[in-house]
Amino acid sequence: MNVDRRQALQAMLGGTAGGVALLTPAEAAASPIDDRDALGMLYDATRCTGCKACVTACTAANDLVPDTVLSNGRWQMPTDLNAQTKNIIKLYEAPDSPTHSFVKRQCMHCVEPACVTGCPFGALTKRPEDGVVAWHASLCIGCRYCEIACPFEVPKFDWANFNPQVVKCELCRHRFAEGGGPACTEVCPTGAVIAGNRADLLADAKRRIAAHPGQYFEDRVYGEHEAGGTQVLYLSHVSFAALGLPTLSDESLAHYGTKVHHVLYRYLAIPLALWALMAGIIRSRFKHHEKKARVEEASTGLPPQL
Ligand code: SF4
Ligand code: SF4
Ligand code: SF4
Repeated sequence: MNVDRRQALQAMLGGTAGGVALLTPAEAAASPIDDRDALGMLYDATRCTGCKACVTACTAANDLVPDTVLSNGRWQMPTDLNAQTKNIIKLYEAPDSPTHSFVKRQCMHCVEPACVTGCPFGALTKRPEDGVVAWHASLCIGCRYCEIACPFEVPKFDWANFNPQVVKCELCRHRFAEGGGPACTEVCPTGAVIAGNRADLLADAKRRIAAHPGQYFEDRVYGEHEAGGTQVLYLSHVSFAALGLPTLSDESLAHYGTKVHHVLYRYLAIPLALWALMAGIIRSRFKHHEKKARVEEASTGLPPQL
């Protein structure tokens, strides 16, 4: 069951233990999405020059405001994903060696996203038509369970905003209606990052590996199997771990989200229920005191001392 932000807050703040019952596990995608429908990106680190045109395009396409704007109007490139940065290019330099590589980081659009199962209010969903993992402002209460659940450390919380916001790449889904695609892929001058469906991207990646034996790390595509698969895939000439991509088993990561729920239910339900009980006692004592004061007012004619 999805509840909106107002319903969730009302239930929790209304002093009823029933509020806890609203915290039902969010549903992951009902059925697996065919790889030919699943939209994603292929990033080939061997083709990336680190120009960061993709970062600038992402910022503009998503109406983000760079956090460090200089007096001349230019802005500093951020060093990591943050509430104003959905896409980042980082540099890896091997110690004692000229080997280096750039790496692009953004949401991986996991085949079975842990953030979706981790969100108690269904504010993150995997779209059945294309597998894009989308965030819904009206359902999010800013609890940040998605941050905890995501093994790629992608969702970032917008602390500066009074209205809770979770910021992450949504594959520029707002551009789809007008025929647009991921802005970062449209500006990349070297084709280091391209968009497409997962089936085509995977086939393309394997073709490159076959065409350039020994060029790619372990002749492997990161994201083909990791964490049950991701819709953003990587090729690299250095190890994926060196690029900061976590070493994960093939097992789906949705169970991370389920673990969050277990913690939520085991450790949060009891304090919430106790808090609700206390709120009920205080409210009933206040009402009793109020009634007594009004009786005194009626008998003495003096204003009530509440
Ligand atoms: S778990 Fe993390 S990387 Fe995967 S879809 Fe969710 S936010 Fe993106
Ligand atoms: S798909 Fe859009 S939001 Fe995601 S990294 Fe690329 S430009 Fe940014
Ligand atoms: S635009 Fe392309 S080449 Fe430039 S940093 Fe981004 S991915 Fe690399």
